[in-house]
Amino acid sequence: MKIGVLALQGAFIEHVKMLRRLDVEAVETRLPQHLADLDGLIIPGGESTTIGKLATEYGLIEPLRRFSHCRPTWGTCAGMIFLARDIGIESQPILGSMDITVDRNAFGRQIDSFETELDISGLAGESFHAVFIRAPVVTAVDEGVEVLARLDDGRIVAVRQGRLLATAFHPELTDDLRLHAYFCAIVKETLACG
Ligand code: GLN
Repeated sequence: MKIGVLALQGAFIEHVKMLRRLDVEAVETRLPQHLADLDGLIIPGGESTTIGKLATEYGLIEPLRRFSHCRPTWGTCAGMIFLARDIGIESQPILGSMDITVDRNAFGRQIDSFETELDISGLAGESFHAVFIRAPVVTAVDEGVEVLARLDDGRIVAVRQGRLLATAFHPELTDDLRLHAYFCAIVKETLACG
């Protein structure tokens, strides 16, 4: 099993390290040809406008769309924005792969960053310590999208749609490997289905 981490900008090294701690082969992914032999892909947090701009420059938008159409893909924070179908900003390049609407600047400037405990559906054990940094939230989901976690006020911060996963926070900035293991399980299931 080989998982790529989109390495254009943002917190990609941290994801690579988490995957390697799980003994999974992890590779930094920058060019369309790097996608060919990947079984899954993580799109990291960072700045979604920069990721979109660089992906456009590197000719990655269509290859990434095709990849996420048939293989497991997980977006964290800016990666969630990049995967969404609708962010309410026409000019920003996104993949549009997941049937979710995302508000990029959900917490405004006053609550730039915060940490909280989340109960995440599908993760066994104690609650997950989630780090939010200028985070988005999911404001609407279509049929077929499963809500995995909400904040106490009800706002949606983790979703799954089949092989696609999106989280508004940064699991790669904690020591908790459970979400990475959860994504690897999706990759394994997909491989088993051929
Ligand atoms: N607010 C950022 C954006 O719009 C996302 C922040 C993050 O990934 N930590 O891309």
